Amino acid sequence: LEARLRHAQKMEAIGRLTGGIAHDFNNILTVINGNSEAFLRRCAPDDPRRPEIEDIRHAGERAANLTHQLLAFTRQQVLNPECVDLNATITKVHAMLTTLVGEDVELTLDLPEHVAPVWADAGQLEQIVFNLAANARDAMPGGGVLSVATDNVVLDARHTGRIVGVHPGDYVVLRVTDTGTGMDESVQAQVFEPYFTTKPAGKGTGLGLATVFGIVQQSGGQIDLTSSPGAGTTVSVYLPRARTSTAPQSRTTAQPSPRRG
Ligand code: ADP
Repeated sequence: LEARLRHAQKMEAIGRLTGGIAHDFNNILTVINGNSEAFLRRCAPDDPRRPEIEDIRHAGERAANLTHQLLAFTRQQVLNPECVDLNATITKVHAMLTTLVGEDVELTLDLPEHVAPVWADAGQLEQIVFNLAANARDAMPGGGVLSVATDNVVLDARHTGRIVGVHPGDYVVLRVTDTGTGMDESVQAQVFEPYFTTKPAGKGTGLGLATVFGIVQQSGGQIDLTSSPGAGTTVSVYLPRARTSTAPQSRTTAQPSPRRG
């Protein structure tokens, strides 16, 4: 389980990195290939520089093929959002979570029935829960309580000041609370940065919260973290509620708006 979690985190990070580089590199290749083609079009068939420029163009074409393959590969792992029942997702992985946190940590779930569906990728939601639970476990080496709770919330102007960048509206909140070591202000300020870790080499990748942050951003949600050293930590993930059971962007299944007049 632990190995699967690390592997998923690494794949996610590699996917992002590769996709980003392939995309930027493709832009550079457009310049190289465009100019070498333009040069070949203009120069005479017996121009002595021709073979060298043809080599450049061929190499450029091969590189472009490679970046297209890489982009196709990384696109396979991008999200497949749907209408998801967050409580059902958590219930499904309950047994695995119990194994993950170990015997010394008491796991409590508070999943009220009225919690609305969210619009997200179910696999990514599982990843969020696992990453947050693994951090909670690591913060409680001597045991403690990990609670996972969900609820409907409405964020308004009062919250938007505190939770940076959030749009007012209807959300579902996932709260993961531990009674562990907590974090001081300087650690709190860096936790979402990729590769930031306070764990020993081989134990921490520093990609757990960066991955969670990335997923939540992609889903149009937000994260809030409250922590006090010696007392524990709560990570709150706000996910936008799904309005209907169909894709919001899918016009074909939307109800036609009533005609006026
Ligand atoms: P990693 O777990 O691999 O270190 P993360 O991005 O998940 O990477 O976390 C970064 C750092 O944030 C951790 O090394 C730890 O210092 C801190 N942290 C994250 N979650 C908690 C938590 N629940 N309690 C205390 N510290 C935490």
